[in-house]
Amino acid sequence: MMDEKDIEFEGKGLHLDGKPKGLIFAVSAPSGTGKTTLCNMLLQEFKDIKPSVSFTTRTKRPGEENGISYHFINDSEFDRMIKEDEFIEWANVFGKRYGTAYKSVFNPDRLSDILLEIDVQGVDKLIKTYNTNNKIAANRPVTIFIMPPSYEDLCERLKKRGGMDPAELDKRLNAAYEEIKKSVFYDYIVTNDDLNEAYLKLKSIVIAERCKNLQKV
Ligand code: ADP
Ligand code: 5GP
Repeated sequence: MMDEKDIEFEGKGLHLDGKPKGLIFAVSAPSGTGKTTLCNMLLQEFKDIKPSVSFTTRTKRPGEENGISYHFINDSEFDRMIKEDEFIEWANVFGKRYGTAYKSVFNPDRLSDILLEIDVQGVDKLIKTYNTNNKIAANRPVTIFIMPPSYEDLCERLKKRGGMDPAELDKRLNAAYEEIKKSVFYDYIVTNDDLNEAYLKLKSIVIAERCKNLQKV
């Protein structure tokens, strides 16, 4: 029988379903699949999901804002953050470094869930960290892989998005094969064929995870 003292979280932090807020959703996809499009739809609809703003050494693209799209930092600042153990995970992606700060995922007030858009190496490191630390293991991120419907579609989408020379395009298409092999380690796979259908699946995962029963015996 559940007793009031067993409830460890504040009422204001409840989803009022099974789980307290503070869930971490980590989403990966081969570049060009539609991850950013789908994640933006999610953030638009769910105001209680906050994006984690990563740190990167890559340069800003048109329309991106420092502190919103990324924290754009130089190599020596990135080195400093690694040295001072400020990253829960970081990876080299297409020749630039990207990292998630501990402070972005540890969310002590638990008033929102957190969305990470990180690559497959990052998810791998993140899960290893959660699996080897008992204190945080209960809040292991929910991992979601967005799958392109086909190689041809992926190629088309990358071209449509533009801003990439043919060598860069090739690099991303080759990387996609390796990334898709890693999809077997994810909790969920959402194929982004029809955008609205893929979004429905993505938001259903969020809703279902929020209802997961932590009291189940
Ligand atoms: P990613 O973040 O995975 O690199 P983007 O969200 O930037 O990908 O999407 C890449 C391109 O594909 C964009 O031009 C976007 O509008 C388009 N796109 C996204 N989802 C779909 C879809 N389901 N069908 C067709 N085009 C899509
Ligand atoms: P882009 O340069 O197109 O914004 O991102 C390139 C890749 O880096 C994407 O796959 C994106 O998900 C990944 N990425 C962004 N932030 C992080 C991060 O903090 N850690 C890791 N490991 N990958 C990230």
